[in-house]
Amino acid sequence: MNNYARLPVTFEKGEGVWLWDTQGKRYLDALGGIAVCGLGHAHPAVTAAICEQAAQLVHTSNIYGIAHQQALAEKLATLAGMDSVFFSNSGAEANEAAIKIARLHGHTQGIEQPTIVVMEGSFHGRTLATLSATGNRKIQAGFEPLVSGFLRVPYDDLDAIAAVAKNNQNIVAVLVEPIQGEGGIQIPNDGYLPGVRALCDEHNWLMMLDEIQTGMARTGQWFAHQHFAGKAIPDVMTLAKALGNGVPIGACLARGDAAQLFQPGNHASTYGGNPLVCRVGLSVIDTLEKEQLCQRATTFGQQLITDFTAQLADVDGVNNIRGKGMMLAIELDRPCPELVSLALQDGLLINVTAGNVIRLLPALVMSDEEGAQLVEKLCKLVTTFCANRLSNK
Ligand SMILES: *Cc1c(COP(=O)(O)O)cnc(C)c1O
Repeated sequence: MNNYARLPVTFEKGEGVWLWDTQGKRYLDALGGIAVCGLGHAHPAVTAAICEQAAQLVHTSNIYGIAHQQALAEKLATLAGMDSVFFSNSGAEANEAAIKIARLHGHTQGIEQPTIVVMEGSFHGRTLATLSATGNRKIQAGFEPLVSGFLRVPYDDLDAIAAVAKNNQNIVAVLVEPIQGEGGIQIPNDGYLPGVRALCDEHNWLMMLDEIQTGMARTGQWFAHQHFAGKAIPDVMTLAKALGNGVPIGACLARGDAAQLFQPGNHASTYGGNPLVCRVGLSVIDTLEKEQLCQRATTFGQQLITDFTAQLADVDGVNNIRGKGMMLAIELDRPCPELVSLALQDGLLINVTAGNVIRLLPALVMSDEEGAQLVEKLCKLVTTFCANRLSNK
């Protein structure tokens, strides 16, 4: 179906931050399959996990015990300080589970029309419930009627959440991204997530964090809420993307009462958490630990921001350079979607989101030297782009 506006390139091989197309041309990948390939392409540990597990056992069913699923759940729960995990095959499905948990949380208290507070500019997926939760009209248009039970407020605005709480007794949860990814790498004020936590505590709402893009060491902590020293621990957290480094896996983690809400029969997935994907998930976590990639994301992300800032500081048209760990953005003062094709021609893979934000989500294994190539190539492109656009004004 014609649902993707594809770029005119097809890749057939990858290694680390590099991809080769069918003509043999090499590209520096600064997007990592949209925050999926945190360990880069064809990481030997991931390849070995896939091959060994494929030779042993790929799928049984959640009717039976699955040792790797149990092990991965325990590992994730320990890293996140959560109590239980449901495995899905994608981010949207992980959020579907979170939304169902929030509704159960409401119904157990006699709230018959449970409502979840969601944010402007958010992205939570493309299923009907998750596109309804998403704060982007373009993603919803044509798919009405939307799923009801969502109440939208501006992002990074605690007063707005407090205000809707005053005249709505049906609120059961807040669903929010710690940093908005598709929304343009929007980083909220430091008080925001702890403030959401406090509001949720005050009102007995579930704090539900969509860490699908920010999780798995991307921002320099295992999960982005861990930047707040235990003051923003969610009741429900969703993961996907980098958890499988490319094999389809998502997870919905829960803590405390929220971890007890699903009972047998409430929710399920045929493939979810099968032996293959969970074995890969375990190898991803093991490799992130062994290669100390949380630390690397912190220091190298900071280095890249410093380097971009040094080279682009005087470029008229660059509004802002920001990021957390290896989740980086260069915001221009005008729409710049054509930069994606210009970069592609130049052997560089980037993304532009929210119209004018260059989004970089490179593999955490990127070397200093590869980072220097990224900075050099991209700064040249941005400088030329801004200069041309100015002369066309
Ligand atoms: C990518 C993403 C999703 C959707 O994940 P899919 O695997 O495409 O369903 C949801 N939330 C956030 C924050 C994402 O970045």
